[in-house]
Amino acid sequence: MLTSICGINWGDEGKGRMVDLLSEKFDVVCRYQGGNNAGHTVINDKGRFILNLLPSGILRENVVNVMGCGMVIDLKHLCGEIEKLREAGIKITPENLIISDKAIITMPYNVLQDVMEEDRLTKATGKPYGSTRRGIAPVYADKYMKKAFRMGELLNTKLLYKRLPDIVAWKNMTIKAYGFNPVKVDDMVEYFETYGKPLKEFVVDTGVYLNEAHKAGKNIMFEAQLGALRDIDFGIVPYTSSSSTIAAYAPIGAGIPNLKITNSIGIMKAYSSCVGAGPFTCEYFGKDAERLRELGGEYGAATGRPRRVGPFDVVASRYGIRCQGADEIALTKLDVLDDYDEIDICTHYLLDGKQIDEFPFTDVLDECKPVFEKVKGWHCDITKCRKKEDLPKEALDYIALIEKLCECKIKYVSVGAEREACIKMF
Ligand code: GDP
Ligand code: MG
Repeated sequence: MLTSICGINWGDEGKGRMVDLLSEKFDVVCRYQGGNNAGHTVINDKGRFILNLLPSGILRENVVNVMGCGMVIDLKHLCGEIEKLREAGIKITPENLIISDKAIITMPYNVLQDVMEEDRLTKATGKPYGSTRRGIAPVYADKYMKKAFRMGELLNTKLLYKRLPDIVAWKNMTIKAYGFNPVKVDDMVEYFETYGKPLKEFVVDTGVYLNEAHKAGKNIMFEAQLGALRDIDFGIVPYTSSSSTIAAYAPIGAGIPNLKITNSIGIMKAYSSCVGAGPFTCEYFGKDAERLRELGGEYGAATGRPRRVGPFDVVASRYGIRCQGADEIALTKLDVLDDYDEIDICTHYLLDGKQIDEFPFTDVLDECKPVFEKVKGWHCDITKCRKKEDLPKEALDYIALIEKLCECKIKYVSVGAEREACIKMF
């Protein structure tokens, strides 16, 4: 089995908690894109964890966790994350964590570039991209410029240090143009020495490992960061991430382009949330937004930023399901709607009086107006429900309506943040 767990919406759908739950039957969990801009919250018998770089299978003792070649890795951040988990009693050794030699290293100057550019955009246009300022866009740009460093280079720093001065000189041309002080080669050497060295023991050719594991009949799960609407090609450019968040990219980003995924499980939220800037057609404002944000605890796991919120968006979610090729859906955070007498659903958009059902091009999206329909709420606590039969009729109706409007099968419904607060529907 090669199963992909991916996001249908704008991210923060609860992928981490679903990976933590569903990885019970898996031998390997592999992150295949993105960096420490991810924030995956997992709550289980071991505690509450926010994972930025480590795959969410790290909390299961028998799972081997892989950080694939599609990832960008901030060495300092990863050292800190490993340290924190070890302090919480989680074992992390080369037996349960391996890192692709082809994964890209996020450099301190990439973080600086991200900050410089967001600040420049704010001043020049008043419209920053809403980046997490963790260097993700600049480091992916370096990858495609073929100026980035890879984890495998840590194994032979002689060659790395030969390459370093010219890359630093090239990077300083940009940094100086922003009016900032150039970075020093020595500081970059120190970064590699301090934070690269302790990670050397994890670095391998993960493609070889994953192919062998697959041949041996092991079950492999791919964990995405962010959602379809943040994909670099299919999302709301430029308010996207800088990597491919879609399931089809999973084998490539994992290091096994020769294999195909068996199935794709899309994680979709029972309402909408969007952190950062960009068009968000179904957005609530004022009191409606405050109420839903508080009920859903919608503050960024990576940054603490308040998330924008709105009702379930049929147009965007249908598009997300298509982009992800999702065979099955996990509908998350249904319990957040417990308090409502009536629940809004954004069934379609209007553009110049015309009904829009297909998710439009980003520029057009800005002009679209949402159309909300009201459905009856269940108005009771569903957090203790563990079987389909436990759910009130109105909740089942809400799920069935989403299935119908989005032409999808909802296999899991989560009703709380803890591992076991989830219902298998069939
Ligand atoms: P991810 O980035 O997709 O892994 O999602 P995040 O972890 O950033 O955001 C999901 C948030 O919702 C986290 O704070 C989770 O603890 C929480 N959460 C996940 N599933 C549920 C659920 O079913 N009910 C409630 N109330 N909270 C949930
Ligand atoms: Mg998140």
